[in-house]
Amino acid sequence: MTASASSVRVAVRIRPLTENEKQHCQNSAIAFIPDNQQQIIVGGDRPFTFDYVYPPTSSQQDVYNSCVIPLLNKFMKGYNSTILAYGQTGSGKTYSMGIGLDSVMNASANDGIVPRFIDSLFSSLESKRSPNYSFQVCVSFLELHNEDLVDLLCPNVRSRKEGLNLMIREDSHGNICWSGVREESVSNTAELTGLLRKGSIARTTASTDMNSTSSRSHAIFSIILKQFQVESADETTIENTTLSDQTNASSSAAQQTKRLVSKFHFVDLAGSERLKRTNAVGDRAKEGISINTGLLALGNVISALGDESRRVSHIPYRDSKLTRLLQDSLGGNSQTLMLACASPADTNMTETLNTLKYANRARNIRNRVVINQE
Ligand code: ADP
Repeated sequence: MTASASSVRVAVRIRPLTENEKQHCQNSAIAFIPDNQQQIIVGGDRPFTFDYVYPPTSSQQDVYNSCVIPLLNKFMKGYNSTILAYGQTGSGKTYSMGIGLDSVMNASANDGIVPRFIDSLFSSLESKRSPNYSFQVCVSFLELHNEDLVDLLCPNVRSRKEGLNLMIREDSHGNICWSGVREESVSNTAELTGLLRKGSIARTTASTDMNSTSSRSHAIFSIILKQFQVESADETTIENTTLSDQTNASSSAAQQTKRLVSKFHFVDLAGSERLKRTNAVGDRAKEGISINTGLLALGNVISALGDESRRVSHIPYRDSKLTRLLQDSLGGNSQTLMLACASPADTNMTETLNTLKYANRARNIRNRVVINQE
């Protein structure tokens, strides 16, 4: 058994000014340092350093190539992975993830992370296919809204009314297993894209004063990959990892089938803005409070994971459904990318600063990756 350290990566993406911002914004709140992909200066005197900084000129391809492809490669080797898109409403989370209705209805060169990932995943899997190698891909798509879960692949079942019978349990490897959630099997890009589209259409959206189409929910799109490799008893062409559920489906003196399971969560978090800014009242205010509870709990988990002295003690995963669902994707063996999205407008500077401070907490996490080579 070998062990190596792997950090959570934090990327910050600053979107272009919107037409509205161009009219009201006096100055950009953000300064970029030429030829420096890691530093950013906010409000003239607040420097921040991240693993990646994407200025408004960065393309979807730039983001995908530099920070997502490395995760795809690890996912193919059996590592659980998560991308969390964080930021205020309107900052570019859904655009970057590529799970907004515009994106899933019209494939284009501007596709975000998820459609690109789906394409690359199936090309990589098909290129490995052989008499000794096969795979199975399943997908689930959940929405967390006011601490209520909605199964977006089964949108008639809404937990807040009918009760989504979601059970979350932890197996002996520390994997979080969800049951009661629809997991659909897909065999190609078109089928997987079809389910992404179906869930995106079903996703609950509600308008606020901030953005009439903003989603007030967290969306969790998950791809579960099972790989099967027949190999002779002394070969180890697929790594076994403690994060995955491995069984020898069949074995004989000459050969055995190894099974490797990994999952990838794409999480489009609800807007991080403070409630008073949205002028929300009534149900909308309740939504805002609940959304902030989830983000607060996520921030506390991230902070606890980054604190070396607390690593072995209590990590408050159980403080919200969001953190409980993502438990094995934050810390432990997972590969985690936080994509913090922000506006460059000076009118949004307070929210941008809050986003960068939140993202800064995530940089302290050091995950231990344990590779179990049998
Ligand atoms: P959020 O999901 O954070 O609420 P959106 O992804 O819906 O925000 O983005 C708000 C608006 O800004 C959308 O019209 C989107 O197309 C646009 N936008 C966001 N990021 C970019 C970008 N990097 N380049 C061009 N347009 C962007």
